[in-house]
Amino acid sequence: MKRDKSVKKLFLISFVAVLLIFAFIFRGLLKYETRNLIGNRGKAYGRCENCKQYFKDEVSTQEKAYKSEGIRPQKVIEDLEKLKEKGVLIELTSNESYRLRDMDHSVPYVLPKVKVFLDLLSDAYKLELNNQLVYVPFVITSATRSKRTVRQLMGNNINAISNSAHLKGKTIDISYKEFGDYNGQSKCFVMALEKLHQQKKCYVKYERAQGCLHITVR
Ligand SMILES: [Zn+2]
Repeated sequence: MKRDKSVKKLFLISFVAVLLIFAFIFRGLLKYETRNLIGNRGKAYGRCENCKQYFKDEVSTQEKAYKSEGIRPQKVIEDLEKLKEKGVLIELTSNESYRLRDMDHSVPYVLPKVKVFLDLLSDAYKLELNNQLVYVPFVITSATRSKRTVRQLMGNNINAISNSAHLKGKTIDISYKEFGDYNGQSKCFVMALEKLHQQKKCYVKYERAQGCLHITVR
């Protein structure tokens, strides 16, 4: 009886040892597979269905919205602060309809009509949810930039700097990735945005690489 127990123990120890040896030999592969698994899961998150076909407004189109309207491009962020103090720009803050991510290369100061647009957008989104799905706030990742911050982002490409919509106080980026696996909400949000797009309230460009929708208010 006692011998039986020690044989079992020995067998278990050998089994664990063999398992550990295998894990050690194939540790590279294990790491790779785990990373792949996590990576693919990440990729499945936050898809933007129909965005490619709905939102194709390139720079030349978006430009129409800020050629005759919008602030003059400012050199540095401090200049944008001044415009806020003067009341030309207003500060967006997180609320129950949308959240603002900490911004590296921009400030959440925009023309008042952007705030009006965001309220319209959240109302339209709520309507799409139709009380069937819980409201998940959308996330704004970028707003107004200075010439310096555009340069930091785009290098010294003069054309990109002078054409950046983010200099005019009318453009924001909304992340569709932040919806995560709230696929239903993401779809409703896209439908709502497309409705405002059709009503000529905004221009929208789907930015797949950045995981966001680049929106200029008209
Ligand atoms: Zn943008």
